[in-house]
Amino acid sequence: MTLLIEHATIITVDPERRILRDGSILVDGRDVVQVCPAAALRLGRRPDRVINGRRRVVAPGFVDTHVHLTEHLSRGLMLDDIPVARYLADWLLPLYSTVTPEEEQTAAQLACVEMIRTGTTTFCEAGTLFDVPAVADAVEQIGMRAILGRWTWDVEGQTGRMQQTTDEALGRTADVLAKVHGRAGGRIGAWPLLLGFGTCSPALMQGARDLAEAHGVGWGMMNLALHPRLRTRDALTVERLEARGLLGPTTKLAHMIYVGDDDIARLAAHGVKIAHCPTAALKHTKGLAAHGRFPEMIDAGVCVSLGGDSANGSNHFDMLRLMYLAATVYKDARLDVGVMPAERVLEMATIRGAEALLLERQVGSIEPGKRADLVLYDADTPEWRPLLNPVNNLVYAASGASVRTVLIDGRVVLDEGRITTLDERALYERVERLSREHVRRAGVPVESKWPVIP
Ligand SMILES: [Zn+2]
Repeated sequence: MTLLIEHATIITVDPERRILRDGSILVDGRDVVQVCPAAALRLGRRPDRVINGRRRVVAPGFVDTHVHLTEHLSRGLMLDDIPVARYLADWLLPLYSTVTPEEEQTAAQLACVEMIRTGTTTFCEAGTLFDVPAVADAVEQIGMRAILGRWTWDVEGQTGRMQQTTDEALGRTADVLAKVHGRAGGRIGAWPLLLGFGTCSPALMQGARDLAEAHGVGWGMMNLALHPRLRTRDALTVERLEARGLLGPTTKLAHMIYVGDDDIARLAAHGVKIAHCPTAALKHTKGLAAHGRFPEMIDAGVCVSLGGDSANGSNHFDMLRLMYLAATVYKDARLDVGVMPAERVLEMATIRGAEALLLERQVGSIEPGKRADLVLYDADTPEWRPLLNPVNNLVYAASGASVRTVLIDGRVVLDEGRITTLDERALYERVERLSREHVRRAGVPVESKWPVIP
């Protein structure tokens, strides 16, 4: 199957960062084979499908490097004023401890549809899944590119499925790597992904790193890091991670708000990858605007990508909204318009995300030889007009409503606004039914501050 997109505005994010005003992209199978000015295209034979790009802006599919899929079934459940320290104990653990494979699968489908409809084509789970093969089935069917991982921790104090020894945790992770990694023609990978936040022993972290090394993959963990002058519950410092030999180019750390200059130097020296989750940090009152050092990390050469986090944290996986925040919050906090320019933020959402997932040779930009993970935005929408600076429009103005067509691995998964790989209405009906069963089984109350009239 060959597909041609012709006469489009193309934001390539290639090494020269070219923006083509009248460009064409030829896709053969799952790969991009030509990206060039429309007049320079060389066609051997007539393509199987031609998309007129005259009213379209084409950009690389976004790469979201930190998402908790399962929480999509309880999106918006938690009221604003629940103390953040009680999230895990009173809400998330009861929900996670009772979730079924069907519910995990349905939550993943909902999350994938949301990501596709907002321009994301690749994601990495946070490592909070139980039935990873069931979720991999859902991701394979819907057609996204993903790295998945199993719920992994080994601290004491929980019961039932929430309790596991270090050996059990590593054994289950090894099992997922064997069963899931490389599925769907390599589109679905598996990594050791640890819960982190003080829930993992040094032996578990080292075991995860060793497993990743043995399989030639990365590994990840959540951590706030610990600034010497700031107190947080998570006491694992970057210095201590380094001392344990846990920092390297295959290490991906999420959140990472409290870092000092010496930490940034360590992260840069070891080539560590960072998933910055601005929406969740702001809603969870992590002190992002006051303490986040992500602009400095990027200046120091650290690979910083973006993560949507969770459906009770940021409450959405919309990369366009993540980019908007990443581009604006530091400008305001530092009274400096030069911080986090739109181009840098778009790199975080695309090529840096690909690097964070060790996928930069396959995705993150539109180049010959890379996979055809492409998003076509409808430029005939108010937010895209006038089309003076396409990068500014994409980062500051565009919404998911303008995402018209999405290709992943050369396959059209969103076609002129229609999801091609599942029945979307049936999905929403299933989500409503399973969500209520899921929340009831967990014993978590559904509350509203305003009277709800049935
Ligand atoms: Zn997270």
